[in-house]
Amino acid sequence: MNKDIATPARTNAILKKHGFTLKKSLGQNFLIDLNILAKIVEASGFDEQDGIVEIGPGIGALTEQLAKKADKVVAFEIDGRLIPVLEDTLSAYPNVKIIHSDVLKADLPGVLDAEFSKGQAIHVVANLPYYVTTPILMKLLEDRLPFKSITVMIQAEVAERIAAKPGSKEYGALSIAAQYYAEAKPMVVVPASVFVPQPRVDSSVLKLTIREKPLVEVIDERWFFDVFHASFANRRKTILNNLVHNLAGKDAKAAIEQALSEAGIDPKRRGETLSPQEFARLSDALYSTLRKADR
Ligand code: SAM
Repeated sequence: MNKDIATPARTNAILKKHGFTLKKSLGQNFLIDLNILAKIVEASGFDEQDGIVEIGPGIGALTEQLAKKADKVVAFEIDGRLIPVLEDTLSAYPNVKIIHSDVLKADLPGVLDAEFSKGQAIHVVANLPYYVTTPILMKLLEDRLPFKSITVMIQAEVAERIAAKPGSKEYGALSIAAQYYAEAKPMVVVPASVFVPQPRVDSSVLKLTIREKPLVEVIDERWFFDVFHASFANRRKTILNNLVHNLAGKDAKAAIEQALSEAGIDPKRRGETLSPQEFARLSDALYSTLRKADR
């Protein structure tokens, strides 16, 4: 059998054999370090009977390591030029299915239904294309797909924002949005030298373990998201000013003040000091004072 894909020599040989040129616009930074791949697989913690969804297999560096350990790997690749390459590099792994599609446009529930057995635990494992990290992660979380965990290599800065706690500089709407659905744990910081070509930003592996129940309970989920997004719109503004300007308008100021008071939140505080639990209380109070009045 061939040597592993993720070595500098084998990767170069594969690129050369297929005359493949990397596209920066598709975030094509391929992994050439087997140690890092082993760490990603270990961080994911899947079992051999589990199913894996990969996003962006590239030339198959991670796919191969997943296929060796999991029951099945289904990988979405947007770049049609990579499909024949993957057929070649992964020909020894019958448990891999490549789907030529933009993962953001794919019918994920349909694919999961068709490709995995009923009740099988499914995990996402990917070295994500950095230009579209956040939309992909939010889609995976918001669509409430039956994933047990999502383990991804992403920009270190985005991993820090996702896992950030209240009061820190990195804490914001993305932290709450992700932590609402999942427990976020940064796993490994990765040097740029493990990629070809090397990205200009630092990377890290982040693990999201999907919660059985969301982090907080709210009357209206969409409204809760609107409330915390509005609260972070301008980080220098107080929570009151952000809500007036970005959620409900000047006429609603008195109602917002009332809701803040009901939720026990000082109107002069800034969004980044509020815990998700406080946002949930505030969201429900605003729902009663503002949304009910709308009807
Ligand atoms: N998994 C490989 C590795 O680790 O070496 C490649 C990772 S590379 C960072 C990202 C891959 O995602 C590229 O192969 C790129 O073509 C693919 N990609 C980019 N945007 C995508 C999208 N919207 N849907 C599916 N794949 C995408």
